[in-house]
Amino acid sequence: MKLTDLNRHGEIGANSMFAQIGPFNILVDSGLNPKALGYDALPDFEPIEDLDLDLIILTHCHLDHLGSMPVVTAHNPTTPVITSAPNELLAPRMLRNSINVMKRQREEHGIAEYPLFLHRDVAQFSKQIVVQRFGRGEIYFKENETIEVILHPAGHVAGAAAVEFIYNDRRIVFSGDVLFDAQRTLPGAHLPKGPIDTLILETTRGAKGRESGHSRASEVDQLIDKIGSILDRGGSCLIPVFALGRMQELFKIIYEARNLGSLPDSPIFAAGLGMAVCDNFDKIRRRTQLIDFDISMLEKMNVKSPEPKMRPGRDLAKKGIYLVSSGMMVEHTPSYKIAASLLPHQLFCSFPHFIIG
Ligand SMILES: [Zn+2]
Repeated sequence: MKLTDLNRHGEIGANSMFAQIGPFNILVDSGLNPKALGYDALPDFEPIEDLDLDLIILTHCHLDHLGSMPVVTAHNPTTPVITSAPNELLAPRMLRNSINVMKRQREEHGIAEYPLFLHRDVAQFSKQIVVQRFGRGEIYFKENETIEVILHPAGHVAGAAAVEFIYNDRRIVFSGDVLFDAQRTLPGAHLPKGPIDTLILETTRGAKGRESGHSRASEVDQLIDKIGSILDRGGSCLIPVFALGRMQELFKIIYEARNLGSLPDSPIFAAGLGMAVCDNFDKIRRRTQLIDFDISMLEKMNVKSPEPKMRPGRDLAKKGIYLVSSGMMVEHTPSYKIAASLLPHQLFCSFPHFIIG
């Protein structure tokens, strides 16, 4: 196997791996770098420019893995894009939103090449998707050779898959973003057992272990305590969240805490792309049973949209919990506007969420 990392800046960015396994040209993911603008946000496609891809794999729908897929499929219009059932639903939604963001950035920053793809390119990408069930192998042929492709649940976010290739009895596994802990909305990763010949593991911690004393459960408890204390003294909480995965997880955490009596009832306001993703999560639960997210929970908590008129420095019309995307608090997004309203007040930052009260 020859492996080429197409992520030009390293770190979290335009994640994309080009694997040549025997005669097979395979691309695993094609992201968009959230910290770069214009063509610089794309992976470096030069090594795959003059060849035809045989297989494209989409591990999951965070934009740093998905964001430039339509550029790749526009150049490889007959190559199957192998992915899980939830991703078939989530990917077009995320990509269409990305077009709107790029159009806005074109105006604001004068980036002539934006958007990097159009709605028809997203439609073409969707047409090429081949859904594969977790744990079930599919065999692909080229020049009298075969390769088997198996997807495995990777935890992390709805639809996330690790991919295993079996070629000439050798097992090669790409983990994608992987999380072994169970979350409120989905179980942890379930990766293949037995000897693996080559493992390509994505990790933000490298070989370092976790700091002791910090667990997912203790972080959640701390978050609930902090929200509770802000609400008790009549404040509002802004929780900026990533639209895909984190918003739905937070809804469940808040819902369960209220049912247990560890969080007082208070108005909840929510907005942004994350709300559309909530609808998709409910559909995915009903269709696949791969995740646990029931949209009726939002109705039970009487979740509303924030008041449309917000001015920097002027208090929010209503106190409560504001759960809004985008998680990066980019200018003009709901989370940015609400933060501007809350700014004169005391500010707490609590990893991994920012809370302003
Ligand atoms: Zn991810």
